[in-house]
Amino acid sequence: MNGCSINIEDALRAYLGRNMLERPAFEAVLFDMDGVLYDSMPRHAKAWKSVCDEAGIEAVTEEFFAYEGRTGASTIDLLVRRQFGRPATEEEARRLYKRKTEFFAEMPSAPVMPGAQRTVAVVAESGLPSVLVTGSGQGTLLERLDTDYPGAFPMWRRVTAYDVRHGKPDPEPYLVGLAKVGAGPFAGIGIDNAPLGVESSSRAGLFTIGVRTGPIPAGALMEAGADIEINSMEDCADILKMLL
Ligand code: MG
Repeated sequence: MNGCSINIEDALRAYLGRNMLERPAFEAVLFDMDGVLYDSMPRHAKAWKSVCDEAGIEAVTEEFFAYEGRTGASTIDLLVRRQFGRPATEEEARRLYKRKTEFFAEMPSAPVMPGAQRTVAVVAESGLPSVLVTGSGQGTLLERLDTDYPGAFPMWRRVTAYDVRHGKPDPEPYLVGLAKVGAGPFAGIGIDNAPLGVESSSRAGLFTIGVRTGPIPAGALMEAGADIEINSMEDCADILKMLL
């Protein structure tokens, strides 16, 4: 972690300089869910691939990691346009997304992401509130949060698919997350694993930690606006210890 501690100081200095802040004044830590709190992305990707196979759409499982954060309808539109050269109909979008959730529900439940519980514990020890900021409306995981992360994400500190008009990469989800705990601008740390999620957090003014927990090319999260890019939630716990 020595190399990392140098990185984090540089990253923080760059963040403060860019936003003309003198010192960090973090008031909250905002967590994405899929690929951060749960190792659920491989299952989502597999479910999408099954939908494609069934619908005669050519696709590779890995590509779905890059689409994370898009709405189901927009992912389906992208796939249909690519395969059939026309936009997806509303009926098609509804039907294929329903199949996707069915395939996902059939799979064994996703494990907790290694290091995520320790990361959430570091935040709790610091006294700052943790906030959930997910584009998901997937009930199965949302219901498990209280069991796997007791006390960390009460209902009033959750931003889900139902709370925002514009999903990631729009900054709205992370801005709503800050507002939930009355945190000011530039007073939050955002943790996200997807390029679109990182972009959302960064545009909302958060110090953004990009965690490469899936097959995303190195540097892709920095390109999307991350202040620092790391490879695991274990590293994230260590970094938050330094930051908070
Ligand atoms: Mg995610």
